[in-house]
Amino acid sequence: IKVKVTPLQIPIKVNPAYEGEIVRKQDTWVEFGGNKVTAFEWLQMVGKEDIDDGRITVIGPEINEIPEGSEWPLGIVVKVYGRKMQQDFVGIMERRIHYFISYGEGLWHIAGRDLVRMRISKEARQQGFTIRDIGELLLHMFRTTFGTIINRVEIILYTDAHVVEREVKAAREFYAIRDQHLQGITDEMVDTFYSCTLCQSHSPNHVCILTPERGGLCGAVTWLDARASYEMNPVGPNQPICKGECLDATKGMWKNVNEYMCQASNRTVEEVNLYTVMDRPVTSCGCFEAVMAVLPQANGIMIAARDYSGETPSGMTFTQLMGTCGGGVQIPGFLGVSRRFITSGKFIPADGGLARLVWMSKELKESLRAELNERAKKLRLGDNFVDSIADETTGVTEEEILPFLQERNHPAFKLPPIM
Ligand code: SF4
Ligand code: ZN
Repeated sequence: IKVKVTPLQIPIKVNPAYEGEIVRKQDTWVEFGGNKVTAFEWLQMVGKEDIDDGRITVIGPEINEIPEGSEWPLGIVVKVYGRKMQQDFVGIMERRIHYFISYGEGLWHIAGRDLVRMRISKEARQQGFTIRDIGELLLHMFRTTFGTIINRVEIILYTDAHVVEREVKAAREFYAIRDQHLQGITDEMVDTFYSCTLCQSHSPNHVCILTPERGGLCGAVTWLDARASYEMNPVGPNQPICKGECLDATKGMWKNVNEYMCQASNRTVEEVNLYTVMDRPVTSCGCFEAVMAVLPQANGIMIAARDYSGETPSGMTFTQLMGTCGGGVQIPGFLGVSRRFITSGKFIPADGGLARLVWMSKELKESLRAELNERAKKLRLGDNFVDSIADETTGVTEEEILPFLQERNHPAFKLPPIM
């Protein structure tokens, strides 16, 4: 069977050149996701009979029923079937949803999985762009990009709040299963890491280095995804890097990683340490799920999630922190990370690891509570380590949180000075 590709007929232009385009709030007809409403995207590999090739279904209101300036829920489901399709390809294909939508003029999209935020501009709306057209765009792009692997594509778009809430629960179970595939594989067990340069379209010098214990900062690409992507397309954005000679086992520096980084970052990053935030750390583009920053007085670090809009003890909001360390430059003391990375065995071990964690935005802290406590126990940080981490209800300046940390006898105080 060969996938037939019909020309894309939607009222906006579609071109990779629009990827960096920002749709400002005041120019937005509708925004999906963000702090108040749910938005997610989920690529499903299904059986031959469980898919209706070429079908696009919108479940819930169309754009003409969504008032101007709305914040609205959205679920994007892409079903694919193909004889050459593998479960391992799911993560990397799902990540492409971000790019494909960003290629649309007047469309803005960030993050992935259940943290998606997306805007449709007033202008796109005026030109007649609809929710269904998101499906047309995705259908076309998936067919043209992955035509050798997938034979059937179907798109479902949910805009009904109840259905979005129901479906996102199912999606989360699948995200968790995907993440579990990596459990038990450590960086030491493999001889090859992978690169990801997908984000060079918006951060031209940025490179993610993917290891089993550290996925991409977008949270959507793991080491396994990158390996599968390389298998799918050997000249694509994910290239193998044979670790080779280790230059610093504690900080995580390898000769071959440096060499790759230097060339792929257009000679802007010559040396990189994977296991520290303080000394020649990895770079961040703008897609990170959370951002870390050093708090010198507390001798520790803080992490704010993308959807946290308040102040933080670093003196900056998430957006300001993003302005500081986004864009693919090495900034010691700041790092964009995925949420999953925070509970990884390679969470800044060279800087003292989890014991450095003194403040987290509350939702992030609570969502990781069980895993954080489990890891902390292994590291002998006590049974309820999470209770010694401050959050915005404790305070949003270093002065405000210090008494709390002292009272809880936070392990960061026992570590060597961070700066
Ligand atoms: Fe790839 Fe990193 Fe961008 Fe994710 S954030 S798409 S891993 S370059
Ligand atoms: Zn990016």
